[in-house]
Amino acid sequence: MKDVTICSKCVMDTTVLNISFDENGVCNFCKDYIHRITKDLYTGDEAKNRLESLVKRIKERGKNNEYDCLIGVSGGVDSTYVAYLVKKVYGLRPLAIHLDNGWNSELSVANVEQIVKRLGIDLYTHVLDWEQFRDIQVAFLRSGISNIEIPTDHAIWAVLVKTAARYGIRYIIAGNNIVTESIMPASWLYGSKDARLIEGIHATFGKEKLKGFPRLALYDYINYFLVKGIRWIPILNYVQYIKKEAKQIITDELGWRDYGGKHYESIFTRFFHAYYLPEKFGYDLRRSYLSALILSGQITREDALTELESPPSPAEQLKSDREYVIKKLRLSDIEFEEIMNSPKKTFRDYPNNDGIWRRFNGLVSAARQRIIRVN
Ligand SMILES: [Zn+2]
Repeated sequence: MKDVTICSKCVMDTTVLNISFDENGVCNFCKDYIHRITKDLYTGDEAKNRLESLVKRIKERGKNNEYDCLIGVSGGVDSTYVAYLVKKVYGLRPLAIHLDNGWNSELSVANVEQIVKRLGIDLYTHVLDWEQFRDIQVAFLRSGISNIEIPTDHAIWAVLVKTAARYGIRYIIAGNNIVTESIMPASWLYGSKDARLIEGIHATFGKEKLKGFPRLALYDYINYFLVKGIRWIPILNYVQYIKKEAKQIITDELGWRDYGGKHYESIFTRFFHAYYLPEKFGYDLRRSYLSALILSGQITREDALTELESPPSPAEQLKSDREYVIKKLRLSDIEFEEIMNSPKKTFRDYPNNDGIWRRFNGLVSAARQRIIRVN
């Protein structure tokens, strides 16, 4: 084992490329975190007032519509808690969207059904064409990049935005949040907004046609966000989001059942977190989630270090997930080993819109800030 230095405040370590530490051993992610919470996280009366006027505005804008907002439901804690807040606490009238990419565990499907039933929310499930999606996933595995979840994350986002436009819904209320998700090294995972990367990787390694796969090109972003004015609202940044308490509430109020791991509602995601990233890249995403929980005061550093001592999944489960993935993607053992041992690549090795995105992001976040301030 190589020498690894761990941050003295969180649990990020030198498995992250370009991590830096100050004279007290505190890492750059801790510093970025403080910068982000002061910029994007609202607390106390400010949070309450902002959220109340936002809710009022959503109700007002959607009063003649069947739904006044859109939410995504995966069956996980964040999105379930958002569904609970939106419907039960704030009395909004959401339409829920669920993406079926073929990998959801039985428990996650049961959770989604249970949640929408208990809350009385209409659910639209978008089912991806499995042959096409399998082809895209295999292409991503063969590409050698770390974030093989981009096709799923992008498709969810695209289905949400396009459904919002189709139903004339202006607000998409999302479960992304600073408190539990903000520490993610850019070198670990490239974001999922970039349809050009999906097209580029698929053109290189895919066989099926990409037609019909939900995606958003640059002009779609301009059309939906700047012209049609669709807004994305990370509602958990406006409430005091304590994961443990949220879990308890959705368990008691909605009959939600635990999966025992972040994003483990999907078997592919579990394979991605617990097998693919640690084995091929040496990344343990738990470090980033646990670090965010430490910095938001929800767990201690000692507890996080203890949790990191055990593997992300029990050995038996890793083995069965690996076998399941190989079989479902119709790979041979040899093909799979080639994938695991092939050179590591990044998005820069393929066509991408990263440069344009960097400029466009500023524009989108300016538009978003403006709309929030107007409230
Ligand atoms: Zn740190």
